[in-house]
Amino acid sequence: GVPITLHLIFFQAVASPPSSNFLLLGPSGSGKTAFTTLLEAKSSPASKKSQTTHTSQRSTLVTVNLPPDVPTASNRYRSVNDPSLKEAARNPIKYRVRDTPGHGKLRVSQGLSELQAMAQSKDIKTRLRGIVFMVDTAALVDEVTLRDTATYLHDVLLVLQKRAKNGSSSKRTTEIPVLVAANKQDLFTALPPGSVKEKLEAEIDRIRKSKNKGLLDASADSTMYDDEEILGNDDQEAFSFKLLEHEVGVKVEVVGGAVKGDSQEEYGSGVRRWEEWVGMCL
Ligand code: GDP
Repeated sequence: GVPITLHLIFFQAVASPPSSNFLLLGPSGSGKTAFTTLLEAKSSPASKKSQTTHTSQRSTLVTVNLPPDVPTASNRYRSVNDPSLKEAARNPIKYRVRDTPGHGKLRVSQGLSELQAMAQSKDIKTRLRGIVFMVDTAALVDEVTLRDTATYLHDVLLVLQKRAKNGSSSKRTTEIPVLVAANKQDLFTALPPGSVKEKLEAEIDRIRKSKNKGLLDASADSTMYDDEEILGNDDQEAFSFKLLEHEVGVKVEVVGGAVKGDSQEEYGSGVRRWEEWVGMCL
């Protein structure tokens, strides 16, 4: 009868959101290619595709499935007996992940410009739902890697801050959230997500302070840094992701996981908690 038809129509609308794009960023070697390859493999387990490693020179766009038992923002209150759960198994929610190369030079030309283009896009098809910033948590003990990673994240957050400030009055609802995917938790040398968060915040604070100093020093020559601004816009207080959320409305979450451990469902439950984060953006 009518209710069933209505239910199916409603489900269709939920099943294929028009703009479920996610951008995958992060330094080279953090596991972005491994992550997209895993998501693709999980989305089509029947067709044993050859594990083609994407060339890391260009960005790639893959469409993958959200596992049916991962809740989304719109269905998080459904019960296990909800018929939509069975339907979801047959007709999974899809989202798109754009993988970007992370090498120093390419990052600036591709990762950030991709972000800029997608973040400003008014086109519903390319509008961004969220950013996954992947980090190798075993590599962060190295100071150069930490500085490099934090600089990249700082630049990403600054793009989002500028976007937030230029936004219209409805900006609160359209902020693009960031997941810092603290990858490689399977390695015994990996830093736990909590200290990854602390290290990144402290390093971003340092970057912010030295940038601020640079701006002051160069203020006589104001044309140089004309449109530059400081992340978080508060040089008194130490930088934290909380501060950024409070001041600018951009949400950053650090969540541990492991691309490698996903099949074993251990090591911070593989990529499950990242998929749950994705679900909450849909
Ligand atoms: P990308 O440059 O960000 O695309 O990084 P890749 O996906 O090429 O991964 C870099 C290396 O890290 C590869 O050798 C992966 O096999 C490895 N790797 C990725 N994820 C994990 C993980 O969760 N645990 C471990 N131990 N290694 C990983």
